[in-house]
Amino acid sequence: MTQNDSAAAPLIDGFGRTIRYLRVSVTDRCDLRCRYCMAEEMTFLPRASIATLEELAIIAERFVARGVRKIRLSGGEPLVRRDVMQLVQRLGRHVGDTLDELTMTTNGTRLREHAPALRDAGIRRLNVSLDSRDPALFRHVTRHGDVAQVLDGIAAARDAGLAVKVNMVALKGLNEDEIATMLGWCVAEGHDLTLIETMPLGAVDEDRTDRFLPLTVVKERLDARFSLFHDAAQTGGPARYWRVDGGPTRLGLISPLTQNFCDGCNRVRLTTEGRLYTCLGHDDHRDLRAALRDGGVPALDAMIEDALATKPRRHDFRIGRDEAPAVARHMSVTGG
Ligand code: SAM
Ligand code: SF4
Repeated sequence: MTQNDSAAAPLIDGFGRTIRYLRVSVTDRCDLRCRYCMAEEMTFLPRASIATLEELAIIAERFVARGVRKIRLSGGEPLVRRDVMQLVQRLGRHVGDTLDELTMTTNGTRLREHAPALRDAGIRRLNVSLDSRDPALFRHVTRHGDVAQVLDGIAAARDAGLAVKVNMVALKGLNEDEIATMLGWCVAEGHDLTLIETMPLGAVDEDRTDRFLPLTVVKERLDARFSLFHDAAQTGGPARYWRVDGGPTRLGLISPLTQNFCDGCNRVRLTTEGRLYTCLGHDDHRDLRAALRDGGVPALDAMIEDALATKPRRHDFRIGRDEAPAVARHMSVTGG
């Protein structure tokens, strides 16, 4: 196979899964400190190790050249990285051509300022994390966040013409009694809602076991309050979906602990250091930025190919008192 043939061929891993989706963590830093995600005192990556936005763009574009159709920018909080809009605008130019969708996961604190520019750059949908609409509980979960700011950010996104999907991590004894009201609010506001089981990624100050709430339990509770119809549409992602009360709202459940989804995995993750992780739950990675710096695009392409050949079959997440986190990296490093 020639260099050009190789560069045009789709990315298929050792288990026959075609990679169509790239997540990019543009920073590991954040203006919040959600308890299940980060420790209160975090050591962030040294600035010298962070890839430039230009490097992240070049690497992401190599994936697009190999058939990736969707890119999600995440973090950390993507909107705290200075000049991140340059990356959004550059990748946004591919939307409608080689890219079906460019999107972002954000905590929403800076959406009032950025929503119109995100829309102008080609983003049409956002995931916004909102674990509670109760000001005191939101402050507790995020350690210092102001929920009014996030709700205002969501309103700004809607004003700018962006569809919003709310992400809510189900937390036993914290927000579990609010899940049904959150779904009712999402139905009323026209947002989708995705519920997520807390995952054992990186050390935090608490034992995640105390807060782990199986979504199997949550689903039973929601069934008693809403008519949920399974939506068979497969996104190739980890969520399973239900239509709520016959309307347009979709409820997504991401249950890595109680329902493994790895067989249909179509994604890989690029960190802010330019490292490629082919699985959220494993430490194996390749330094794509080093390849780019040392050998340019040919070396980058070769390393991507090599990484895909060894993408693990599945994650091995377990939650229990005696279990260490599956990997030492926090979700904010790999890009949730
Ligand atoms: N800061 C942005 C935000 O909060 O939306 C983007 C990054 S955050 C890491 C992406 C998503 O991962 C959020 O929905 C967050 O709730 C979720 N998340 C973070 N740590 C997690 C963990 N240990 N288990 C499950 N979900 C987690
Ligand atoms: Fe920040 Fe998002 Fe992690 Fe919360 S979940 S600490 S907002 S990166």
